[in-house]
Amino acid sequence: MLVEEKDALKERLKEIFGYSQFRGNQETIIRNLLDGKNTFVIMPTGAGKSLCYQLPAMLREGLAIVISPLIALMKNQVDQMNAYGVNARFLNSTLSKGEITRLKKDCMNGVVKLLYVAPESLNKEETIDFLKKVNVAFVAIDEAHCISEWGHDFRPEYRKIKTMIQNLGDMPVIALTATATPKVQLDIQKNLQMEEADVFISSFNRKNLYYEVRPKKETKKQLIKFLKDHKGKSGVIYCLSRKKVEEIAQLLNVNGFKAAPYHAGLDPDVRMKNQDDFLNEEVDIIVATIAFGMGIDKPDVRFVVHYDVPKSLEGYYQETGRGGRDGLEGLCLMFYSHNDLNKLEKFNKDKPVQERENARILLQEMEYYAESPVCRRRQLLHYFGEEYTQENCGMCDNCVHPRERFDGTEAVKLVLQTVKQTNERFGLNHLVNVIRGVEDEYVKSYGHFDLAVYGKGAEEDADYWKSVIRQTLIYQYLEKDIDNIGALKISERGEKFLKKPHAIELARDHDFTTEVDEEEESNDKPVNTKAYDVKLFEILKTLRKKMAKEKSLPPY
Ligand code: ADP
Ligand code: MG
Ligand code: ZN
Repeated sequence: MLVEEKDALKERLKEIFGYSQFRGNQETIIRNLLDGKNTFVIMPTGAGKSLCYQLPAMLREGLAIVISPLIALMKNQVDQMNAYGVNARFLNSTLSKGEITRLKKDCMNGVVKLLYVAPESLNKEETIDFLKKVNVAFVAIDEAHCISEWGHDFRPEYRKIKTMIQNLGDMPVIALTATATPKVQLDIQKNLQMEEADVFISSFNRKNLYYEVRPKKETKKQLIKFLKDHKGKSGVIYCLSRKKVEEIAQLLNVNGFKAAPYHAGLDPDVRMKNQDDFLNEEVDIIVATIAFGMGIDKPDVRFVVHYDVPKSLEGYYQETGRGGRDGLEGLCLMFYSHNDLNKLEKFNKDKPVQERENARILLQEMEYYAESPVCRRRQLLHYFGEEYTQENCGMCDNCVHPRERFDGTEAVKLVLQTVKQTNERFGLNHLVNVIRGVEDEYVKSYGHFDLAVYGKGAEEDADYWKSVIRQTLIYQYLEKDIDNIGALKISERGEKFLKKPHAIELARDHDFTTEVDEEEESNDKPVNTKAYDVKLFEILKTLRKKMAKEKSLPPY
């Protein structure tokens, strides 16, 4: 099929899906695939990855194979495509022998355009034998991060995909993921032998999501008030433990909301039913651990609440990404307290040293994010190596309700001087002690009480200085030393500032200390997640930053 003319592609988009515009770089991606080239797509959740293979499937001759990890999702997508009048089918373990025979016949007759296959099914010899007889247009690998052990959802069967599809002859492959970490990206490309593929990275900015962090005080009361304001709307509430999930789901039901719990400890049937009830709008709210969500395409999720502090910004971004997939309003509300952080740290205590250190650093990122007065969007994007330059995003608490500002020029100068005089080898707490003149064992053993900066900031408390240092870091006058985890170094920008200081405005922090009230007392364990190797994570983050620079990211 020829789609050379500029508007032909758009016409087909309108005809089949009823959309009048491509989003972001969908069109470029689709053209690349139609040109028969291997294509690697990194696009945030909800941005519209599926279309990048669904439309080409309609335009190319032959059968497009889509490898997708979850049986529930497959059905969801196939139903959707059928509703568009596209002949899509799926092949997985739920089909009977008879159904499989019929499916095979239809595929060989060329009636089927789009076939969703579970990796387990693909890895069967009989599947490959039959697919060899079919004219395959291309292979799409959705949720491609499942290939990587570094991702948040590793599936061993995904690692065999390459070998399997090699049997089918030569055809283009498109791999898609929303995972932003470069480590995972490289892993995917290597495993699929797609190093030469054209890579399309979309901006991770989700313009329609509103980000807000609130002190975790009287949380249940706050939550119920929030939900009353959004009564009848669809939303997800994330909690860190199964126990908390049950407790909150119950609380909401008692208060007249339609909510269901979701966590890995539930009977699979119940879990599935609760998920379906949510998707079918039998219930408005799903209260869940992070077990909930991958690939769930509920376009009208209007809010995502984090009742507990998430363990990493990466996770936070993915989870909030489930809001507002239809491009309309999405409120992302996080309750945050120092208590929560300490609790999480405590649970990390028994981990092996490296893992514990990694988890600690992820938490520290979280802490910076939650407490910082800087635009949330800017911070999140910065975390993924993207610079957001707009002064005011208009869609986060820090931009909409800016905190009180003060002239921080001298404070920043003192911080940078302290970093310099301690030879750029220390982290936040030690720097604060030196600035405030607190003579603890480290100050003693390093002889830092002799420094010119020692005690120069004694009139302000530790929280003040922590906040100043965090802001100095966020504004990139300081940077983290990749080779020495936790240590802060002066960045190029910081050096320039020291040579020729200019006025810097800083903001007052919120109060995130919580009295330990009864509801936060429970000692329930957070669910376990795989720890990232943060050192690599950090190095690769820098790499992504470089990639982002070279590729000049297109807007979402
Ligand atoms: P993801 O990137 O997370 O896989 P999906 O492919 O599930 O995202 O798409 C998210 C939503 O965006 C879906 O509801 C889809 O129908 C919608 N969508 C995708 N492309 C477009 C477009 N060009 N115009 C309007 N809506 C779109
Ligand atoms: Mg998807
Ligand atoms: Zn903002």
